[in-house]
Amino acid sequence: MLLWVALVVTMGGAEVQGEDRPNILFIFSDDHAPHAIGAYDGWLKSVDPTPNIDVLASQGMVFRNSFCTNSICGPSRAVIQTGKHSHKNGFMNNGNTFDWNQQTFPKLLQKAGYTTAIYGKSHLKGKPQGYADWKVLPGQGLYYNPDMITPKGRTRIEGHCTDVVTDLAVEWLKDGREAGKPFMLMVQHKAPHRNWMPAPRHLNLYSEIDIPEPSTLFDQWQDNAPPARFQELEIDRHMHLNFDLFVDLVPGFDGDSQKGRFDKSAWRNMQRMNPKQLEDWRKAYAPRDRAFHAAKLEGKDLVRWKFQRYAKNYLRCVRGVDESVGTLMETLEELGLSDNTVVIYSSDQGFYVGDHGWYDKRWMYDESMKMPLVVKWPKVTKAGTANNDLVQNLDYAETFLEMAGADVPADMQGESLVPLLKGRTPEDWRKSVYYHYYEYPSVHMVPRHYGVRSERYKLMRFYQFDEWEFYDLEKDPDELQNLYGNQQYAPQIAEMKIELERLRELYADDSDVSVKSQQWQDQLRQPQAAAN
Ligand code: CA
Repeated sequence: MLLWVALVVTMGGAEVQGEDRPNILFIFSDDHAPHAIGAYDGWLKSVDPTPNIDVLASQGMVFRNSFCTNSICGPSRAVIQTGKHSHKNGFMNNGNTFDWNQQTFPKLLQKAGYTTAIYGKSHLKGKPQGYADWKVLPGQGLYYNPDMITPKGRTRIEGHCTDVVTDLAVEWLKDGREAGKPFMLMVQHKAPHRNWMPAPRHLNLYSEIDIPEPSTLFDQWQDNAPPARFQELEIDRHMHLNFDLFVDLVPGFDGDSQKGRFDKSAWRNMQRMNPKQLEDWRKAYAPRDRAFHAAKLEGKDLVRWKFQRYAKNYLRCVRGVDESVGTLMETLEELGLSDNTVVIYSSDQGFYVGDHGWYDKRWMYDESMKMPLVVKWPKVTKAGTANNDLVQNLDYAETFLEMAGADVPADMQGESLVPLLKGRTPEDWRKSVYYHYYEYPSVHMVPRHYGVRSERYKLMRFYQFDEWEFYDLEKDPDELQNLYGNQQYAPQIAEMKIELERLRELYADDSDVSVKSQQWQDQLRQPQAAAN
């Protein structure tokens, strides 16, 4: 029953049928903060981090108020697969295993006549379902010469992971996909995830300049509720010189004799490098390490140095992803597919690039709650436009299904972005978004919290400690002034509490928020720890 043949999709006023439905190319990276994209006009714009993504943005729409529902790798992907919040799709923490037997949008697109594939980082464990072809990294995967899991078993591919994944996608576009069917291709990069290991050709990018520092690099979280002072994601105290920043990792690296000395990921990558790759790393880092030791930095100078090393490696990884976007767009052009392919660029959450003195994500603060979302939809979405409506990764599945003219199941919890992409935001579009992070106690020690964000206000509750925060984002976009308990804002706080309860009911979030953590509760009541 080829029901979809009868479906009529209205696109930009013109009616198209069947095989004219658009292809969907979903390019997705890991931990790429919107403020590290030129088109988002953030504080990193001056170093021109993403020339190709900026071109994509100039041909499509940039969503400036795009948010995740749970700022962590696996859960964000599970939300995208299902169009459901973490408590509904069952993947709440990175430690969970995704139930691939559940309804996902790639399966529904297959039913609607699409051919589908995924290459790169899945991070959902188990064999992907809903794809005609797939090659995914085991877990986090490696940056250098990575293993890939395929339907035929495990294989190792020489090269930098970002290039390997791009090549697999290009190959599938050229020769792998089923002819006569529209396609949906997910190209999911590991970069720029920790440990930030760029391709050899990018090792010297930015070496002649200083990356601008975020204004909040030396934030002491004085106004926050206590959890912000007891996290473990500071550049100062928690970013490791050796396995995060590779100091002394490279010059003396000689393989097995150093086994166990270093963090698994950095060491395993070094061990995996071929002699040429290792030589490129030695050439780039040995002189930098010598200069670092000679300088004998301390205090804020050391933090500033660590920030530079970190931000440069992060942005070098970003550059690799950006080049992938360029290559994929060129490939579409070459194959005559540009005019009928929707190209989406997104990343699983935002990231702290030194903002608030941090790296990593998890918090509901904007730097990690925001996701980049850039969409080029030829002949439908006006080129070079920006959208300020509140959107989430919860909406992607519904959007792709509507683009394909397929029905959106009633149990999906997001809203299709198609009207927004046509420049027509519905009157009743959502006025707030819901957030819930669950992974605690765990790496980086960010407590569980849920909350609501409207265009102007944000209310967060760290329920394990019964702590609240409230921000006026219009007056305080960096979220430095916690206004919870401020009488001037009592009416707005009360309204946001009602809105939070409304959303918890709307999304049927029945996950346990009575969980208390006495051990940490006691610690949080202690005076603020010195951050050095
Ligand atoms: Ca991530």
